[in-house]
Amino acid sequence: MSADVVVIGGGIAGIAAALRVAESGRRPVVIETRRKLGGRATSFVDPRSGQVLDNCQHVAMGCCTNLLDLYRRLGVLERIDWHPVTWWAHPPHEPDRLEAGWLPAPGQFTGSFLRMRLLTLKDKLAVARAMWRLMRMGFAGRLAWRGRTFGAFLQATGQTPRAREMFWEPVVVSACNLPSDQVDAPFAMQVFQEGFLGHRFASAMGLSTVPLLQLYDPAEAMLAKVGGQLRLGVSAQSIAFDGRRVTGVVTDEGLVEGAAVISAVPFDRLDRLCSPAMKSADRRLQRLGEIQVSPILGVHLNYPVRVLETPHLVLPGRGTQWLFDKGTDGAGRQHVHAVISGAAAWMDLDEAEIGRRVHADVAWACPRAAGLEPTEIRSVKERRATFAAVPGFAALRPGARPDPRGGIDNLLLAGDWCDTGWPATMEGAVRSGYAAAAAVTGQGGPEADLPVAPLARLVGLR
Ligand SMILES: Cc1cc2nc3c(=O)[nH]c(=O)nc-3n(C[C@H](O)[C@H](O)[C@H](O)COP(=O)(O)OP(=O)(O)OC[C@H]3O[C@@H](n4cnc5c(N)ncnc54)[C@H](O)[C@@H]3O)c2cc1C
Repeated sequence: MSADVVVIGGGIAGIAAALRVAESGRRPVVIETRRKLGGRATSFVDPRSGQVLDNCQHVAMGCCTNLLDLYRRLGVLERIDWHPVTWWAHPPHEPDRLEAGWLPAPGQFTGSFLRMRLLTLKDKLAVARAMWRLMRMGFAGRLAWRGRTFGAFLQATGQTPRAREMFWEPVVVSACNLPSDQVDAPFAMQVFQEGFLGHRFASAMGLSTVPLLQLYDPAEAMLAKVGGQLRLGVSAQSIAFDGRRVTGVVTDEGLVEGAAVISAVPFDRLDRLCSPAMKSADRRLQRLGEIQVSPILGVHLNYPVRVLETPHLVLPGRGTQWLFDKGTDGAGRQHVHAVISGAAAWMDLDEAEIGRRVHADVAWACPRAAGLEPTEIRSVKERRATFAAVPGFAALRPGARPDPRGGIDNLLLAGDWCDTGWPATMEGAVRSGYAAAAAVTGQGGPEADLPVAPLARLVGLR
């Protein structure tokens, strides 16, 4: 079998790369070991309940211009529901709401932030001081923090313990999958600069209204249009290399020849697909074994009645960080999904203990859950959920193409772990896929970021 471009991996990076290759008129073949698309951002049928569950809630943000572009190309953008309000639990009071008001960015949250009862005036002044520093340093300024943790920045800006615990931690750990004291500062800084301060729409939360897997349904037909193929249930075993260039991919069903290969598998998988000869020919492949990982825990709970009254809820200061309303059935039973990022401390707990802890957090945040028990609990541990964006990680991230010192020209790399500047996100995955496709086709490439609002630019965010 042969193709113009062999794409290994049908996660978001692989889908993005293959679609852009197909748009250029070239024939891609996508090799995906599972029998479905989506990689880490997909759904499965729970054998116990028969329910189609997402392996974990996946949140898009308004600033994810490339992910939204991919959804648009796939024709599924209308399956994303936009939530302009973020709800923050503050029992026994009603949750605080953080939402953009009438002020232009970067001041759009001023009104609702000042009204948050979760934080004292002293906490709010500390947060405002740090936000001001983030704006004044601009995009280049955050790179000066490379190698230091975001915790060090919070310390340098005199954050109160409560501001850290109740405001900064829930945002940082959810976006970067590591707590502030572990994450390389620029990753977290980017979240606030580009996800909150730069544009009114940037922080809007997009949630899929259908199981994640259904978002990728149109991909197969789009590839077939140019004579491309999706080979599900086929595993790449190695990348064929003639000493200078790659010539295709060896799979469990034989060789798939290609003029170029785009690897869109995680770094540890790529490490196994490359021979020592390839590694010595291309420095992008030499440090894959040094990348560390950080786990995420997703927990599905069914309640006999509706307990969560907002579409989602941040649980500041609790072990469980987010709850999402996944719907209520005809009998009034609610499916709640809980997410715990940076979940290393949870990985050795059994499902019963996880259920107990998460339910205790639900009961803390949602008065209606007190005295109830969930009728079903399903926890999904993703031990290798994402790379760990620790200080030193940025230097390990390869680009799509070989660096100018040489490498294997027709081997392109994609995946959220590649050098997109983004934390481990669907947006990063799409960016990497678009960059890899552009390296093959000579056209396209990642989409532009949201434009920074004039007032934000004026105060230094550029
Ligand atoms: C629990 C969890 C929650 C998350 N929440 C969010 C969120 O809210 N928002 C967000 O933006 N991001 C989130 N992410 C991150 C997001 O899922 C990833 O960044 C993104 O899906 C990565 O896509 P990818 O294509 O780079 O890699 P993957 O999704 O890992 O895709 C790689 C594909 O390669 C396939 N593969 C591997 N080896 C082989 C082989 N030998 N042959 C053939 N195929 C192979 C795999 O089966 C997989 O389909 C979350 C991740 C996890 C795990």
